[in-house]
Amino acid sequence: MTTSNRKKIVSFSQFSKWWTCPYQWYRDVILKEKVFEESIHMSFGTAIHEAIQAFLVAYFNTSEEAAYKLDSIGTFTTAFKREVTRKSIKHTEADFNEFVEDGKGILTEFLAPANIRLHYSRDKWNLIGIEVKFVSPIVNHVNLDARLDLVLKEKMSGDIRIIDIKTATQAWSAYQKEDFTKTSQLILYKAVYSKKENIPLSKIHVEFVILKRKLYDEAKTKYEQTRIQIVKPPAYQDNVLQVIKEFRGFVEYSFTPEGQHKTNARYPKQPGKNRSNCKWCQYLKNGKCDAVAEPPIHEVT
Ligand code: SF4
Repeated sequence: MTTSNRKKIVSFSQFSKWWTCPYQWYRDVILKEKVFEESIHMSFGTAIHEAIQAFLVAYFNTSEEAAYKLDSIGTFTTAFKREVTRKSIKHTEADFNEFVEDGKGILTEFLAPANIRLHYSRDKWNLIGIEVKFVSPIVNHVNLDARLDLVLKEKMSGDIRIIDIKTATQAWSAYQKEDFTKTSQLILYKAVYSKKENIPLSKIHVEFVILKRKLYDEAKTKYEQTRIQIVKPPAYQDNVLQVIKEFRGFVEYSFTPEGQHKTNARYPKQPGKNRSNCKWCQYLKNGKCDAVAEPPIHEVT
């Protein structure tokens, strides 16, 4: 295969990073300077996903009884321990135990029969797949690498439900629920899934399931609290077309028609309001960026 026709694969997270701060994307992807730092939060997310996936596979493919015979909390704690050990993540015993307790709280609520029957009933839904992976051509020989946590099909209507499960310290705020770099992920996946499976957009529904590690201090709130937050991004046709346009814009701006990175394009620094984009950025820490804003490529919403 020659360089000119080799397919380039990009993920949604690359688009999200480019959209937020093109200069960070440039250093990460074109200069290949990114130092990947594993965290205990990532290990926690991986372990929660493993436990939920194992449960749902047994639930849909075998029976409710088989799913509840699984030791889901044991699956989670084993996977969590494995991840922090394998990735040599620095942590104290107290940190580890706190995360384990948070995980138990999440799984107890998510796997409760009332929650499972309400949102994932076997009578109503068929399992299409868990961790569904596919690549979808966009433009300029660039393909999107899409990974769908959970895809269900409603038995009566044939409608598709694409679910992305995320662990978070707390619930998404109103600001986060409207953050384009978050919500556009599932809107984009809806578009490419529709094209790949030849299913009308109107028959595909998307939602984020946010699993919260922390609840508010009970003494300070009179409301009953839940660790589960469901966020349905506005995935109407206009939003879908807008997200597709922006993603294509990213690819056309940053890749040549042959699918190579454009090394000579302008990738401006975008620190954001109060340098909010720079909070965890390695290029601020290592002095490779002064976080002084440059004229943007696009209006960041
Ligand atoms: S420090 Fe801020 S402006 Fe600089 S690359 Fe990182 S996020 Fe962008």
